[in-house]
Amino acid sequence: NMAKRVSVLDSHGVNKKPSPSRVRVSVRLRPFMEKEEDQACVRGLDAQSLEIVNYRNQLETMQYHFDAFYGEKATQREIYTSSVCPILPHLLVGQNASVFAYGPTGAGKTHTMLGNPQQPGIIPRAVRDLLQMTRGKNGTPEEENWTFTITMSYVEIYQEKVMDLLEPKNKDLPIREDKGHNILIPGVTQKTITTFSDFDEHFIPASQNRTVASTKLNDRSSRSHAVLLIKVQKNQQISPFRQLTGKLYLIDLAGSEDNRRTGNQGIRLKESGAINSSLFTLSKVVDALNQGLPRIPYRDSKLTRLLQDSLGGSAHSVMIANIAPEKHYYFDTLTALNFAAKSKQVINKPFSLETTQAPVQPTMKRPRDDLENLVPSQ
Ligand code: ADP
Ligand code: MG
Repeated sequence: NMAKRVSVLDSHGVNKKPSPSRVRVSVRLRPFMEKEEDQACVRGLDAQSLEIVNYRNQLETMQYHFDAFYGEKATQREIYTSSVCPILPHLLVGQNASVFAYGPTGAGKTHTMLGNPQQPGIIPRAVRDLLQMTRGKNGTPEEENWTFTITMSYVEIYQEKVMDLLEPKNKDLPIREDKGHNILIPGVTQKTITTFSDFDEHFIPASQNRTVASTKLNDRSSRSHAVLLIKVQKNQQISPFRQLTGKLYLIDLAGSEDNRRTGNQGIRLKESGAINSSLFTLSKVVDALNQGLPRIPYRDSKLTRLLQDSLGGSAHSVMIANIAPEKHYYFDTLTALNFAAKSKQVINKPFSLETTQAPVQPTMKRPRDDLENLVPSQ
């Protein structure tokens, strides 16, 4: 019984339809939450665009355009259904995908990816649906000779080191590429999950292993990238015993805030530097993919190296840039928008014209000029 296992390889495999390597970029604006007397400086326009005050010139408004824009009333279900659900079937035919939440600390990344029991986010919904999609697959003649296995790995990239959150003694794991151009982490823990409670059992304690440290911006600000990998393996039970693997990366990125404004010093400043350089590489990779450039700088950071077979190429990639409406997020919001935007337009009209509120107070200055004003009051 020396049946030969034919592996249908990932990103360069023959069975894959070429698809555009573009990263779909959407923006989610969370509801206004600050108690202080303040007003929003960002406003949605339609399902693909928003406008933001131009602090340099109060007579102008900047309009940004994206693949999708989700306003403060958008539900978790809506975001999941339109941005993530459509990519899941591709995993069952051996393609890869990645979904990542970008944005400053406090803008809603963890809410979007994880959510809470009342408002579950992308991670629990995707896991639940993948389990369901693979469980019921035995009715059709094509599927009846296949079995599915779903496994999870959960790592954190902190200061350019890959740490295993399911087995914290595995620190600084390597990233390798096999002959089929698949990226893997040798030695990383993989747990098989067959039910949602299997997932919870591994995921919840692992989440508590995440490195969190306090900054002035947020008490539990995450300074690391949390990378959850859900692997869908499909094995043919009869000759030629083909095997297909689809990988889904679900990533809660480190905060994109400018460290000049967090009051960070010493080790914290060094951490912020590492976070920023890795986010900077991610932005270069996304730009290069979306502009169709010949060279994609995947190797310039651990995060993009790990995502090389699941970001661009034949993979399905979605970035959700989370932004907050409050004025003190203004500069971080601009950074996120400039990363996410397909296009930007300066419109000759004051931002306040279409609202019944008072005009925006001219208190916004560059962070360097006015550090105190930009630190939140709580
Ligand atoms: P981040 O992970 O980017 O630092 P969080 O997801 O922790 O931000 O969000 C900060 C706070 O805002 C949390 O209390 C979260 O529950 C809340 N929040 C974020 N987005 C939303 C939203 N769309 N609706 C309601 N509350 C939200
Ligand atoms: Mg968070």
